[in-house]
Amino acid sequence: MQYQSTRGKTPMVNSAQAVILGMAGDGGLYLPQELPAFHWQECVAAKPMEMAEMLLSAFLPEIPNMAQLVDKAYRGKFETEDLTPTVKVGDMTVLELFRGPTSAFKDVALSMLPQLMTAARQAEGKTEDVLILTATSGDTGKAALVGFQDVPGIKICVFYPDGGVSQIQRRQMASQLGENVTVCAIRGNFDDAQTGVKEIFARAQEEKLPLALSSANSINIGRLVPQTMYYFKAYRDLLDRGEISLGDKVNFSVPTGNFGDILAGYLASKLGLPVGMLVCASNANDVLTEFLRTGVYSRLRPFHKTISPSMDILVSSNLERLLYLESGDARLVDSLMQQLKDTGRYQVPEELFEKIKGQFWGYSSDDAAGKQTVNRVWQAHGYLCDPHTAAAWVAAESYREETGDLRPMVVLSTASAYKFPAAVLEALGQQPERDEFLQMDQLCRLTNVKIPKNLATLKEMPLRHKDVIGKDEMLDYVRNI
Ligand SMILES: *Cc1c(COP(=O)(O)O)cnc(C)c1O
Repeated sequence: MQYQSTRGKTPMVNSAQAVILGMAGDGGLYLPQELPAFHWQECVAAKPMEMAEMLLSAFLPEIPNMAQLVDKAYRGKFETEDLTPTVKVGDMTVLELFRGPTSAFKDVALSMLPQLMTAARQAEGKTEDVLILTATSGDTGKAALVGFQDVPGIKICVFYPDGGVSQIQRRQMASQLGENVTVCAIRGNFDDAQTGVKEIFARAQEEKLPLALSSANSINIGRLVPQTMYYFKAYRDLLDRGEISLGDKVNFSVPTGNFGDILAGYLASKLGLPVGMLVCASNANDVLTEFLRTGVYSRLRPFHKTISPSMDILVSSNLERLLYLESGDARLVDSLMQQLKDTGRYQVPEELFEKIKGQFWGYSSDDAAGKQTVNRVWQAHGYLCDPHTAAAWVAAESYREETGDLRPMVVLSTASAYKFPAAVLEALGQQPERDEFLQMDQLCRLTNVKIPKNLATLKEMPLRHKDVIGKDEMLDYVRNI
């Protein structure tokens, strides 16, 4: 299957090459030239791992033995056999995406990506070792480390901002096992770490690094496709509970950062899944809400640090894919992205905006609303949700209220509340203990909700990775891996 860049300025590649490359040479993102034909009813009737296999085979036909790869990626790795369970909470259906090995929704994709990358390299006859370079603000790093741990032929190096991730996130990364993993803190913030990684990519050729580089971020199509599975799974659960009949439309509310998760829902709908509205939930960083209401995307605004840090983002990379898929016009996308780079903003043509508005609805809420929602959902339903999930919940409520559209609503839950214990305790009216491990115990005593095993055992895990370097030392560091 031919993949092309959203900016149309590089040659086409096949799906295995798109996974290996991660990003197109013109700065664009890879998409299939035409979306695959897909029997969505058959997919809805299948089991979750079969769903994943069908979807991955449809998008990535040059990668063979998909059933085996899916099995290796997921079997026995998640808390529940159905990978992503749904729970009925009040009049919402919560889709729990955090039952994987690191208690973050990124596990769904990052359990699969290493399998895809290994198989793609074999299919393309690539033999040189690859180094996955990742800058993380917390969740991606650990999920990628676990996914790539001891994968032959692949090394992984994760950079995180020293003091810029939570204590739990730091311990998760610093205790990582595996002969092929490196974890290093940077004296600087997340942007410094990300800029450093981008510079290493840009200079890789002239520096003659001993390894080929690749990326584990959601710009890689191999990270996006595995996420389409759980939209089908949620739909199937609603069918099984008799809440809908085959063909009825379902709405989804998605806590959004880089626009990867919600774009997977959009792809599911393009494959035929009856999706009504995709509610795009943001926190105080409301750049997407403004875009979906006005057609103007502007990153010229203050950056807010919030209690839902995985959504603290001003440039949502995967939106570029939506612009391309809805306009079919790579020159337009290239020009909009150039405007964003040069001026910090762009406005989409009216016709394109109307198409997008018909499928996406934006809503942003601040930290106070997030905490109030965590509290309200707990008091009313005895269900404990994290601040990212709370943002999606309140967006779903607002959507219903403003539009009167009362179709079944699936709220995507992207993290365990135990990853953000201080904010959740405050939401529940408690004074959090100083230490995050004590906070986990405190939250457990208060709610009786089980602490996920990987987080409960973290305190006892020895710290293996203690390097801290200046932000200018990253290239040297990589050279010595
Ligand atoms: C990454 C992340 C998100 C945002 O997902 P995108 O695909 O970047 O939109 C939301 N919640 C949590 C907990 C995350 O880790």
